[in-house]
Amino acid sequence: MKAMRAVVVSTAVLLGIVAGCKHEQVVPQPGAAAAVSGPFSSQELQQFVALEAIDSHAHAFQSDPAFFAMLKKLNVKMIDILVVDDQSQKYNHLSQEAEAGWKFVKGSDGSAVFCTSFDPYKWNEPGFAAAANKQLDKDFSQGAIAVKIWKNIGMEIKDAKGNYILPDNPAFAPIYKDIAAHNKTLVAHVADPSSSWAPLDPASPDYWYYTHNPVWYMHDKPHPASKEQILAARDHVVEMNPDLRVVGAHLGSMEADFHQLAQHLDKYPNFAVDMAARMPYVMMLPHADAIAFMTKYQDKLIYATDNEFAPNENAQDKAKEWEEAYARDWRFLATSDTVEYLGKKYQGLSLPGSVLTKVYHDNAVKWFPGVVTVGK
Ligand SMILES: [Zn+2]
Repeated sequence: MKAMRAVVVSTAVLLGIVAGCKHEQVVPQPGAAAAVSGPFSSQELQQFVALEAIDSHAHAFQSDPAFFAMLKKLNVKMIDILVVDDQSQKYNHLSQEAEAGWKFVKGSDGSAVFCTSFDPYKWNEPGFAAAANKQLDKDFSQGAIAVKIWKNIGMEIKDAKGNYILPDNPAFAPIYKDIAAHNKTLVAHVADPSSSWAPLDPASPDYWYYTHNPVWYMHDKPHPASKEQILAARDHVVEMNPDLRVVGAHLGSMEADFHQLAQHLDKYPNFAVDMAARMPYVMMLPHADAIAFMTKYQDKLIYATDNEFAPNENAQDKAKEWEEAYARDWRFLATSDTVEYLGKKYQGLSLPGSVLTKVYHDNAVKWFPGVVTVGK
């Protein structure tokens, strides 16, 4: 979901724009390898299936046999993430979204596990944390393996004085404790690409998203919390809860500064990141730098897409779109084929199997206990 919106960013970028680009007629430049696109070839599929890929961040809320068949064919296990988004047009009430998510997970025959959430808009109501924990504990008892917090904390919800509340607001502290006490994982999508705080740039991977989702474009808001403030509050949560595994969604919103991201991965043993919707930022690194980064942090980078399958979307179209997204990412990470993004070509990283196994599978198993066992 656009969890989703940012997600959307993602989804929009990865599925919308990227997919769109794939279908354009691209004239190969002299000397440049033709880009490979579309679904997996049978030979590629064999290699991808062997990875037992885990997509640790995706959003599916419609149960459909054709869609489940795609996951089975690709041997993908996904973490289906619930998001509380009062801005979404596609999703109605949280309880309906949760119901659709659970239905998807339970109907998936083990292809999906659930990441739940709570309603942060109630943050200053009496008994907020106790009620949230009660609901989370119920979700844990039904098999939820993680809890998501979203960018509305930091970029939308304000206190009585008009200040944006941040992830380390004391209201949320008992919830973080509860998640750790149950040995579940916190997925933190807080802040957004730096593009949200900068003048609009048509060359940015996020241009489409912010022109279509102005509510999340902080640059023209009167007194936004800065990205630095929001990430510092996230870091504070990581520091205050050493027993809590925190997975920063979307490269921990540090997509524009790989040096900063590396420092975080070095500093916090309880912090890792998913790559959802931010593969383009890895592509845009110099080729050797991208290989070096993926190699150095092979234990803390968790593969994810932010793919979305919303209610009322066409299942066959979405299944094809998801497969093409998986194929494009895999070609970029695992092969030396050329892939294309926003009209530019990027040579694949051809990472060794030992690294791919971690990024695609082992790291998710480590950071999301239960991901391969729940539902089996
Ligand atoms: Zn997402």
